[in-house]
Amino acid sequence: MARDAASRPDDGNAFTRFFDRVDHALEPIFGAPPITEGIEQDDPAELQTRPCPVCGEAISEHRFDDTAGNIVMTCPTEERLPERPTNAPLNELGMPLSGRRAERAAQSSAG
Ligand SMILES: [Zn+2]
Repeated sequence: MARDAASRPDDGNAFTRFFDRVDHALEPIFGAPPITEGIEQDDPAELQTRPCPVCGEAISEHRFDDTAGNIVMTCPTEERLPERPTNAPLNELGMPLSGRRAERAAQSSAG
């Protein structure tokens, strides 16, 4: 093939060298992810005592079933925590507004 004949051995061709230069230029921006080794993880014993966001019981009281490929958590009680108010303003991701956007939404609805 003509392209193979035109390329230098072990040095790639102009096309691959161009992308090597682009990769080299972008490495500081899109480099390897930061090293998280050594950062303290949450204490597993503390995680077991955290309250469930659905029922409020400790996580250790729950049953986990992972036989179907997805992990399904079953709460130990049928009681549920009260749901958040549904008339609160939401952001573009469907999450409640927070911080300055929540202040602005409150001002615009009041005024
Ligand atoms: Zn629960």
